[in-house]
Amino acid sequence: MVERPVQHPFRPDVPAHPLNPEGPSLAARDEARLGLYVHVPFCAVRCTYCHFSTAAFSSAAVERWFAGIEREVALRAPLAGGREFTSLFFGGGTPSALSARHFRRLWDILRANFTLASDAEVTLEANPESVKPTLLDAWREAGVNRLSLGAQSFDRAELRTLGRIHDDARPGEALALARAHGFERLSLDLMFGYPGHTSATFARTLDRLVELAPEHVSGYCFIAEGGTALGDLALAPGGPAVPDDAQAGLYAQMTERFAAAGLAPYETSNFCRPGAEARHNLTYWLRRDYMAVGPSAHGCWNGERWGNRYATADWAAALERGELPEAERERSSAVAVEEEIVMLGLRFASGLLARDYPSGVWERVEARFGGSFAAAAAAGRLERVEGGWRIPPAHRFLADDTIAWVAARSRG
Ligand code: SF4
Repeated sequence: MVERPVQHPFRPDVPAHPLNPEGPSLAARDEARLGLYVHVPFCAVRCTYCHFSTAAFSSAAVERWFAGIEREVALRAPLAGGREFTSLFFGGGTPSALSARHFRRLWDILRANFTLASDAEVTLEANPESVKPTLLDAWREAGVNRLSLGAQSFDRAELRTLGRIHDDARPGEALALARAHGFERLSLDLMFGYPGHTSATFARTLDRLVELAPEHVSGYCFIAEGGTALGDLALAPGGPAVPDDAQAGLYAQMTERFAAAGLAPYETSNFCRPGAEARHNLTYWLRRDYMAVGPSAHGCWNGERWGNRYATADWAAALERGELPEAERERSSAVAVEEEIVMLGLRFASGLLARDYPSGVWERVEARFGGSFAAAAAAGRLERVEGGWRIPPAHRFLADDTIAWVAARSRG
């Protein structure tokens, strides 16, 4: 593969890091073929910004969830028809809230019903507080080869604002423990732009994170979700919401710090060292098939999308009645597929590339969006790359605006 020279995202006068070409690489794109997602909803406490499907942990709740997983797997696995999954992702909630015994039981259910590629990426989301040797051993023995740790911040006061149960030292301790247990692919989650967040505290957080040298980072901008403690606070009249331009400044600060440390942006919110892209997420962004089980889990399979019931009790009750636990399902129209390809692919740093889509599909994308792409390029919102289009680095924080602009133009 021929690497294109890459400019520094915000400083065209600074040469690109030679080991830091923008991704995702062509190899990473090709390895992300078929994903399997398992939602483990349990959390010790609810973080103040969280709108995910979570449930209180108890023995009875875990047993009911296991019964639901067994039922849903039995309903969905025959559809997989023995196809090989190239990635498996345990998300939540807090998958690390399961004991080693429970995790092995879950693993056995999945392995008995689905086929994993021998080199599959197997990721588990973990709360730093719950990472301990017995769990790390169980995960490694089973085949987990990538951990995603929710750090969010390295500032004690900010962690309290966010409702996190760990202190600022714990993510580093958990990461070191994971490395000592043989994990080589570690990712940290960060959040920025929440009420009270400042550039000065973010600089210290970014320095602490870079010192830990994770292979991958997801850096998400705070979104005020109604019904969450911090979201309601930010949305209240006169509340402490962080203005868009301040959030954009924090994003630029993060991107610049990471670029200097060899963590390249390969998707709007995701950064990695060469070869450390999150394969499972690439499956979503490339709009390839993925199967999903568990409350609130979403799947995309054979031209249809579905979403499971959000609340764990509703999801479990549907399965206990012998029904699929879905709240929604629809066959994707050709127009929807083309719009999703553009919406997701333009978030890649290296762009939306024709090579990633089946024969005929890209031609339809170009027929529908070609005029909008050209108009966006004339307006400086897009640029041509070999075999596709990308959003210029300086506009990446506002990728969603550009994507909406392109979509609106294509509809005339
Ligand atoms: S640990 Fe994750 S899923 Fe659980 S409440 Fe916090 S943000 Fe939400």
